[in-house]
Amino acid sequence: MKIVSFDDYRIGVLTDDGVVDVTPVVGPVPDSLKWARMLVFIEDWDKNKATIEKMAQDGPAVDLDKVRLMAPVPSPRKVYAAPANYRAHQDEMKVANFSPGAADLAASADYGMFLKASSSVVGPQDTILRPYTDRLIHHESELVMVIGKHGSTIPLAESMNYVFGYTCGLDITVRGSEDRSKRKSFDTFAPIGPYIVTADEIADPGDLEVSLYVNEDLKQHAFTKDLIVDCPNLVANMSWVATMEPGDLLFTGTPDGVGEIKPGDMVTITISGVGEMSVPVESRV
Ligand code: MN
Repeated sequence: MKIVSFDDYRIGVLTDDGVVDVTPVVGPVPDSLKWARMLVFIEDWDKNKATIEKMAQDGPAVDLDKVRLMAPVPSPRKVYAAPANYRAHQDEMKVANFSPGAADLAASADYGMFLKASSSVVGPQDTILRPYTDRLIHHESELVMVIGKHGSTIPLAESMNYVFGYTCGLDITVRGSEDRSKRKSFDTFAPIGPYIVTADEIADPGDLEVSLYVNEDLKQHAFTKDLIVDCPNLVANMSWVATMEPGDLLFTGTPDGVGEIKPGDMVTITISGVGEMSVPVESRV
């Protein structure tokens, strides 16, 4: 299934006929907590899945162009991210190559992780806003996992059971010497979408093709089979650090080809089987 957030934190299933509103399955939520509805929806997925499937079949569906899509998880508790997780990107950034070997990385202290502010998340109909005119700001195209269950120190063999689905993500980054968490946490620096594809529709997250265009130019093109730390190991390793919660996002790292984005650009990411999203760039200064 393809799951969207739309209009005022409503939840929908995207079907061939359009968006079917399934918000009522979550039950009443105070208006001040509507941002958390998707977190409840994901947490209760197993319990409500059959009901949601029936609602999606019965409709009615609203045309996609009649709604405003938000980030599919508008307000995640956490946004995990993997640093330089493709060999060719390590090379272009001139950082030390990391070679995990065949060992179980679940508890490895060697591999990196950082957090982006959850407030940096925006949706497929929003705009990336550059906070500086005189700094180098890059696009990074990434497969994003959406976590489905609470889990701490998750064993590698079970880690993919904790993944609810997948979406496209842009890890927008100011280059420079400040801590990563500052350079990657500006408002609008984590566009995701346009929808979550539930995990049952992706046979192997290690067999996806990722492309990124700036305007008409192909800038990044890679295959997730070339991830240095693959999806199962990312979940296991990061859950060793911080307890995973439903709706958490995990940016899996970008391939080579990162480059500057400027006001007026249109950034398009496509991931096979996962979706396509185009987000414009403007300046906020
Ligand atoms: Mn990144």
